[in-house]
Amino acid sequence: KFEESKVLQHLPKQFFASLVKKVNAKVATGADVINLGQGNPDQPTPDFVVKAMQDATAEPENHKYSQFRGDPELKQAAANFYQREYGVTLDPEKEIAILGGSKIGLVELPFAVLNPGDTLLLPDPGYPDYLSGVALAQVKLELVKLTEANDFLPDYDSIDPKIAQAAKLLYLNYPNNPTGAVATPEFFKKTVAFAQQNKVGIVHDFAYGPIGFDGHKPISFLQTPGAKDVGVEMNTLSKAYNMAGWRIGFAAGNPDLIEAINLIQDHLFVSVFPAIQKAAITALNSDQSTVNDLVALYEKRRNQFFKAARAIGWEPYHSGGAFYAWMPVPKGYTSESFADLLLEKAAVAVAPGNGFGEAGEGYVRVGLLIDEPRFTEACQRIGKLGLAFN
Ligand code: PLP
Repeated sequence: KFEESKVLQHLPKQFFASLVKKVNAKVATGADVINLGQGNPDQPTPDFVVKAMQDATAEPENHKYSQFRGDPELKQAAANFYQREYGVTLDPEKEIAILGGSKIGLVELPFAVLNPGDTLLLPDPGYPDYLSGVALAQVKLELVKLTEANDFLPDYDSIDPKIAQAAKLLYLNYPNNPTGAVATPEFFKKTVAFAQQNKVGIVHDFAYGPIGFDGHKPISFLQTPGAKDVGVEMNTLSKAYNMAGWRIGFAAGNPDLIEAINLIQDHLFVSVFPAIQKAAITALNSDQSTVNDLVALYEKRRNQFFKAARAIGWEPYHSGGAFYAWMPVPKGYTSESFADLLLEKAAVAVAPGNGFGEAGEGYVRVGLLIDEPRFTEACQRIGKLGLAFN
């Protein structure tokens, strides 16, 4: 009989698994559940990307073990993408690492560059999977609180200087999951200064890269002067090209951090299926019109959901990007008791904010991954519960 290792025992509880279980149990009762809890893109992968992958599967070359560190053509496409979209110049061999989804890079980076007991800073609230990297690398976790008053950006002045000086890595994520907050150039400048002052490496999670609203294209951390000296940016094709199941992403930036990621990749993986890498080249080289259409769709849905929520007096935090709305919980409820109430009494599923960390308490996350008239229907059902939102 085998037991889990101590490291595995420290892995965080997969909170989405328990949410899915609750939603499935409600669906099994025959209820017409409106699921606003998930973060799974609902739109199809663009046809031309699917076609590129299908064509590549027919090539015998693509059945072989691929190059360990990824297809050079994909690394070049990623570098071209950065140049074209953000005006950032990257060396495709030294400053890009191909990943089987960005989650791999996010989770393995602490393991690649930190030692047990080193300090890592994570945003709270934040994407829960960062915690897996903390557990696997056995590092010391310190949380950086994000507040609505500061637009869910860290306030570097409020971080205890002893913690800042001990920290080896800081994770950031804009456009943000779960709040929909976006970064400003000034904030990224302060981030580089904080990194230089305290010798902290920055890991910017750019999973929702192009998804910005109201005419604002989200900025890349690497556009900030000095950023490449202090950090990396994690990218994925999961969201912008609806390729979440394909598992393809890349890291870009500081060559030492990229080398560390590549080293760990060499030991754990061969590489992503070459046909998927070929499809990713096609996606990154495309004219981005499918991405623009997708951003317009999410913005339309955000506006539709906001309108439906405001009609029942439920005021959202202004989401500037990604595909989420971050909603306050009414008086007398916790994130979890409110989410449970909505599922039980209104058959509406939302993700409780405390699943993203303690500072997520008091909020729920709504995914903009369905179409009207379901937002209106969901909010009308919630409205009938007669809750005091203010
Ligand atoms: N980062 C954030 C903030 C996410 O929300 C997600 C997925 O939901 C990921 C990273 C992981 O993306 P990938 O599919 O590239 O592993």
